[in-house]
This record gives sequence, structure tokens and C-alpha cells, in this order.
Amino acid sequence: MTVPFIDLKSQYKALKSSIDARIQKVLESGAYVGGPEVAELEKRLAEHTGVKHCLAVASGTDSLLIPMMALGIGPGDEVITTAFSFIATAETIILAGATPIYVDIDRKTFNIDVKKIEAAITSKTKAILPVSLYGQAADLEEINAIAKKYNLFVIEDTAQSYGAKYKDKKSGACTTASGTSFYPAKPLGCYGEGGAIFTNDEKLHSIMKEIREHGSEKRYYHTRLGLNGRLDTIQCAILLAKMERYDWEVDQRNRVAQAYTQAFKGLENVDPQFSTPFVKPSNISVWAQYTLTISNRDLFQKKMQEHQVPTTVHYPLTMPDQPWYKAQNKSNHDISISRWAAAHVVSLPMYPDMDDVTQKIVIDAVKVAVDFSMKQS
Ligand SMILES: *Cc1c(COP(=O)(O)O)cnc(C)c1O
Repeated sequence: MTVPFIDLKSQYKALKSSIDARIQKVLESGAYVGGPEVAELEKRLAEHTGVKHCLAVASGTDSLLIPMMALGIGPGDEVITTAFSFIATAETIILAGATPIYVDIDRKTFNIDVKKIEAAITSKTKAILPVSLYGQAADLEEINAIAKKYNLFVIEDTAQSYGAKYKDKKSGACTTASGTSFYPAKPLGCYGEGGAIFTNDEKLHSIMKEIREHGSEKRYYHTRLGLNGRLDTIQCAILLAKMERYDWEVDQRNRVAQAYTQAFKGLENVDPQFSTPFVKPSNISVWAQYTLTISNRDLFQKKMQEHQVPTTVHYPLTMPDQPWYKAQNKSNHDISISRWAAAHVVSLPMYPDMDDVTQKIVIDAVKVAVDFSMKQS
């Protein structure tokens, strides 16, 4: 039996009656864009995150671009971000017209190293865009303190951390604005493309709402540049059903992660670069990924494949090392830890419905593959 990397089918089975009924209701209502499900979802997500305002949008990419547009971040401005993330983080900074300045990551959390942010600030810096990678919030308190000192905005990329706990708050609730993604493989996924923006700032919320509707305050009057950033009503209905057991899913993901970490104790004696994920005691991760580091990744992945356990690399290159980005990169800070991570990270299957038998298959395969990867190299 091949282990799935993410099992969305068993999740659908568990929620089938609610999902089907909610979709059916939308189909019969005739309101496929807008409609009560959009407002209901926004209210539900805002409450769950502990934020005043939420806007459902068409993708995680839009959830980052729209706040930057609304804050007037554009040509001539610099935005400080991590070097190590999914490309949408840097892409949206560039789409807004600004320049990404890449800062290296912390070797243990894979999130931006807050000790290195101040050195990257210039007179052009407008915002800091931390990413809460793999499900764990970045060091938001420290980032906010720096932002306050230099009068900068903070936009948290929570595409991988929806629902994660950060001290006594949630990821997504601590900054000027935050944007998340509901791409199916994210911790909270819909059945297509989707995302959401969060803010406590009412003025910013209303500007972002206009941008989502082609920059219009009222229909066919366009007072600012916008885009079509709306989330389909059917996707909102699906997300409302998924929210019914989301907190349980986060607990289940933590249970799987704990079992993995417990079982992998001692593997650092086989491979000196082996490590399991480090979650700060004040954080609760939502485990978008369970990511190891390993010396000989190619050999490890080959052996895992032989055991029919899929693995994925998030991400094989830092953002400034991606071909298109490399050619126009204006940032020159040391990103050696990000490059090390890009060469050594590997993610294991992770989903809330993973049973004990499947966990054991993954665990046994990892032990064999770590051993193999060291002997063969
Ligand atoms: C997935 C992801 C995005 C983009 O979300 P989409 O919904 O795919 O547009 C942005 N940032 C990070 C860190 C992501 O993982």
C-alpha cells in the first residue's frame, strides 16, 4: 500500500453530509458569488482567529497582495522578508511594485531570524513580511517591536499557520494585517483556490474590501486600482463545514507529529545533520508540514520511495536563488542558513486522519532510509 502524502479523501468522507448539504444549499440559492456563506465564513474565521475583520479572497497570493496594495506599498519601497518560503511571498512583494529584501532564517524554526532584521532596514523599508513556515508562527512580538521602532507595517504570511497558537493569541492576529491560503493541501483547505485576510484596522479593512471588488466603493465606480479577489460562495460553504472539526484536526496533527518525533529520537546518532522539527514552548504548530533535516536527501528520498512512502521538499531553492528572482535580486544579506535548509529539508506525510498503522509504516521507513542514506554516501 502506498501511503498518501495528504489524505483529503478520508477527510471528505468524515465531513461528507455537512459538505454536501452546504454545497447543495448554495446550488439551489442561485447566489454563486457573494451570498450569505461569504459573510458567515468571514465572521467564523475572524472569531476563530481573534481578530475584528476578515475578508475571504480568491487565493493566498491575493491575501498578501491586497494588504500591500491597500497600505500603499509600491515602487521605491523595500519589504523585508525571509529568504526561505514558497515563492508567493516574494512574488507578491514584486507584483505590488516593491523590492523584496531577504533575511536569513533561524536554523531551528526555519522562520525569519529576528536578530538579523534590523541590519536589513534602510530609509526605503516600508514593511516586514514574516512567514509562519510549516505551521509555526514566526517571532511576531520581536518583529512588532522592531516595526514600531522604525515605523513599519507588518504583514504575516499565515498560509501554512492558520489556527496556530502564538503565546496567548493566534497566528494571524498580531500584525497590521495577515494573509492565509485555503489551497487544498494547506492545514485549512477548500476544494479549489481560496484565502483570507485578517486585520483589526477598520479603515484598512474597508480599503482592502474595495480592492477585492476592482477598487470600487459602489458598483461601477472605481475609485482605486483593484482586482477580482473574491472567494466563490461554494468554497465558503465547504470551509464552513471544514471549520466544524478544524480544532480537532489540529490536535490530531499534533498527535501524529509527537509520535514521529518520539520515534525518531536517537537518529541524530546515525546522521549528524538529522533533526526533527523544533516548536517553541509558547507556540502550538498546525503542522502544515512535518519537516526533517538530513545529510543525504536524495538517497533518503529514494529509499522512502522504495517503501512507498512519499516525501516532498519544501523548498529546494531559496526564493532569491530561483531563476527569475536571481536575475533581478537587489538584496545582498547573508542567507547561508536558508541555503543549507534548501539542501537538507524533507517533509513526511502529515494529515489528521492518519491511523497508527500508517504512522508506523512511515516511522519504520524513515529509520531504514536514514541508515541507508548514511551507509551509501
Ligand atoms: C501556499 C502559500 C502561499 C500562496 O497561497 P495560494 O493560495 O497558493 O496562492 C503563500 N505563502 C506561503 C508560505 C504558502 O505556503
